[in-house]
Amino acid sequence: MAGPFRRVARFLAWALACAQATTAAPGPRPVPAAPAVVLITMDGVRWDYPLRDALPAFSSMGSAGWTARRLTPPFPSLTFPSHTTLATGVSPARNGIVANSFLDRASNRRFSDEREGSWIEVPPLWVLAERAGLKAAVRSWPCSQGAWNGTSPSFFRGYDGDARDGETVSWILDLLRRPAPDRPRLIMAWTRGADHAGHEEGPSSEGVRRAMRASDKLLSELRAGIAALGPSAPVDLIVVSDHGMTKVDRMVDVVKVIPKEGYFPYIATSGPLCNIYVKTEAQRRAVAASLSRLPGGILSMTRAEAGRRFGYDGDRTGDFVLLCPSGATFASFHRKGDRDVPRGMHGYDPSLPDMGGIFYAEGPQFPPGKTLAEVRAADIAPTVCCVLRIPPPPSAEGRNLLDGSP
Ligand SMILES: [Zn+2]
Repeated sequence: MAGPFRRVARFLAWALACAQATTAAPGPRPVPAAPAVVLITMDGVRWDYPLRDALPAFSSMGSAGWTARRLTPPFPSLTFPSHTTLATGVSPARNGIVANSFLDRASNRRFSDEREGSWIEVPPLWVLAERAGLKAAVRSWPCSQGAWNGTSPSFFRGYDGDARDGETVSWILDLLRRPAPDRPRLIMAWTRGADHAGHEEGPSSEGVRRAMRASDKLLSELRAGIAALGPSAPVDLIVVSDHGMTKVDRMVDVVKVIPKEGYFPYIATSGPLCNIYVKTEAQRRAVAASLSRLPGGILSMTRAEAGRRFGYDGDRTGDFVLLCPSGATFASFHRKGDRDVPRGMHGYDPSLPDMGGIFYAEGPQFPPGKTLAEVRAADIAPTVCCVLRIPPPPSAEGRNLLDGSP
């Protein structure tokens, strides 16, 4: 079949799946004409955090809609790559945000927790929505600042370290109260979750429990605000996190092991992940020879090997990729200038139980009673597109959770 016809056929199949998902939804609620989707991320909330303390808002949302036993992050299970996968349906090697810190070979530009959306190499959800004629609103989402190939969300707030998460809830509810022509159909917002407490105090700490009680209160306020809007303003609410957290007790200083001759080999570490970029064959050989001096347990891969193991062989992936075992992390994780070992970390193999995040969803498209064994971060964007009745991301790797198949 020729390209355009294949695309049309794929879109018709997609539209049919979304229509079936809508009509198949049991329950008394009418099918909404124009529901809004609110996608909230809570940073670093591990799959079991809401369950272990039986947090009431999470528990209530789990009963009122869909939940998953775990959300599996992409590789690497780091904040910027995972949020970009949530927003694009595409893994970090293909969406361009390969780590929290990396090098773009083509331009020689360094990425380090950058906010600009122009770093993303495939269209994120807010761009897909706006290009389909729907208003989108984005707040504090990693890599959402500025226009993406000329398209920006209609409503935007950048990351503000001083802003409280409660202000984010008020901002969302104010947007949802707008009259129909101005009401955004897609709202995406980042919240602090338990990431900071997890790094500083460890996943089993009282600090994480306190952060989770705050997240539960936030969720309670958001759900109450949405319920108060009534049936004339339907909302599908999806709550996810970007990764889990595991205990760490040792740090590895990779810079001491790899021979450096100035800028190259360029070493970019992000927690337990390290990308090493070389310019010459001599550097490649020197780095390869030095890797045997790393402490035991560290997985060292060439880019091709990282591709076979984790699908991690993008243009921005290092020539060598190192990954610490659970419990260890690389030394350049800065902790207020000191070199103490953090108590918690993420970025490891996403299949490890501790790397799992959360997934909760409720609203007209997510009627009560469905528990999925696993949702992947890449599934979120195609699912949101289905709820919005717009075509899925062009190169989405995830599945639409509403398509009815197991
Ligand atoms: Zn994170």
